[in-house]
Amino acid sequence: MPGWTPGSYLIRDYVRTLEDLQVWQGQERLAVERLEPACWQLRCAADAPLEVRWRILATDLSVRTCHLNADHGFLALAGVLLQVEGERWTPIRLSLELPPGWQPFLPLPPDGQGGWLARDVDQLIDSPLEAGPHSCHAFTVAGVPHRWVGWGEDLVQSDPAWLADVERVCLACCRLMGVARPAASSYLFVLHLLDQGFGGLEHHDATVLQFGRQALAEPNGRRRLLQLVAHEYLHQWNVRRLRPAELTPIDYDRATVVPSLWFAEGVTSYYDQLLPLAAGLSEEKDLLEDLGTDLSRYRLTPGRAIQSLRLSSEEAWVKLYRPDPHAVDCQVSYYLKGAVLALVLDLHLRRHGSALALVLRDLWRSHGVVERGYRWPDLLAAFVAHAADLSTLLPIWLESEEDPPLESYLEDVGLVLSAEISPHPTPGWQLDGRATTLARVSRAGAAERAGLQVGDELLALDGHRLRSPEDGRRLLIGCGSAAAVTVLYCRDGLVRQTQLVCEPPGIERWRLCIDAAAAAHTAEARRRWLSLLP
Ligand SMILES: [Zn+2]
Repeated sequence: MPGWTPGSYLIRDYVRTLEDLQVWQGQERLAVERLEPACWQLRCAADAPLEVRWRILATDLSVRTCHLNADHGFLALAGVLLQVEGERWTPIRLSLELPPGWQPFLPLPPDGQGGWLARDVDQLIDSPLEAGPHSCHAFTVAGVPHRWVGWGEDLVQSDPAWLADVERVCLACCRLMGVARPAASSYLFVLHLLDQGFGGLEHHDATVLQFGRQALAEPNGRRRLLQLVAHEYLHQWNVRRLRPAELTPIDYDRATVVPSLWFAEGVTSYYDQLLPLAAGLSEEKDLLEDLGTDLSRYRLTPGRAIQSLRLSSEEAWVKLYRPDPHAVDCQVSYYLKGAVLALVLDLHLRRHGSALALVLRDLWRSHGVVERGYRWPDLLAAFVAHAADLSTLLPIWLESEEDPPLESYLEDVGLVLSAEISPHPTPGWQLDGRATTLARVSRAGAAERAGLQVGDELLALDGHRLRSPEDGRRLLIGCGSAAAVTVLYCRDGLVRQTQLVCEPPGIERWRLCIDAAAAAHTAEARRRWLSLLP
């Protein structure tokens, strides 16, 4: 049984949801020997059918796990399948028995007998399976059939322009890649619209998205969902077919180090913000807001001084996918810094008369179309072909913990980052949601110097009872940064006291703005940058 599913770099040990494994040959139940937690061996008669039965506990609602209730079923097949050793490249027939009124939705071709036929194990694992009494909406992108299936709420009914806008985003992806039509010969979108949630998983011919109804109701909610659509759709090229060689073929049993995840996810994340704009579905001010939010988040991640972008990619399995309260201090997401580097690379290539889109298209033609995995030298060569100095610069930007020269590149397109200073002194902690428990203590910050740690429950500041995080902020505004504040807190059931000396107010966020003093030609450079082409 696979240990993980492609696109989500975490060993999930799916076998922990498996129950009641039985193997039968005719009327005889066979003994099974467990060789590894997810691997069995058995003795059976040759040339007689073998029946293997098992059950899966399907209670985990995410785009990479299995969830079944009275409303719907979703199976990430990596979490369901047992693979027969030595039969990885053998075609597999899939059939389903569903409750009355339910329809199945999956990207596999029908087998003509009411089931589906997968070319091999990989195609089957790459087929997300949604089922339920859902409506299915058909549309086309450049003549290629697409389906949109929603669970939780039918977005197509509540938002009549939705499918047309999705189609525009898909066409913008094709234009970016310089192709007339999508790489897939048919495509399935599955959306789980939940109260809260965010995520997506890419497949060759499909994607599964999760998005929150609360988030969708926000002013930028629809735009963010279109960005998620763009992100996963672009993955049908970048990462699915234009794939790192380390994932060719995929080893489902163990974690594989992929040094170029920054390219697979960072470049895709960079474009997911630009594509709705390129599709005419958002405005320049929206892009500046969204990109500014990411650049701010990046600048406020101290872990970028500890972990390089290359390391972030290599350590995905044990760091990004397994975050803890200290993560922001010792790591940086290859999605986030990868997108920042993609921006820098795009603007650098423009100084050479090219653009990131052209590098992506070259790689698509040299490696993606034929699904030949790329390695680091291939990636570097593709960049160097458009800007020779990247042979030196790109390795530095990937290996170094220092920031690439972002400001200088933003200047090229008349943009500037401006800092907003916090109204209160910096305690060096973050409180947990609605409670007064420390969710984060900044490395070498004021709270850490005061001996506080993650999990401490704050009770009072200078004798004033704390009942909410808001109380904390209000009380800190009152005290200067030089004076010590008496903190009463509880750790492990014991009440303690310490003195906290806050740091002066620091940068709370960065905003990306148009520089009113910029030279006139930068406005034209910005227009060309936003058109995605040189
Ligand atoms: Zn992605």
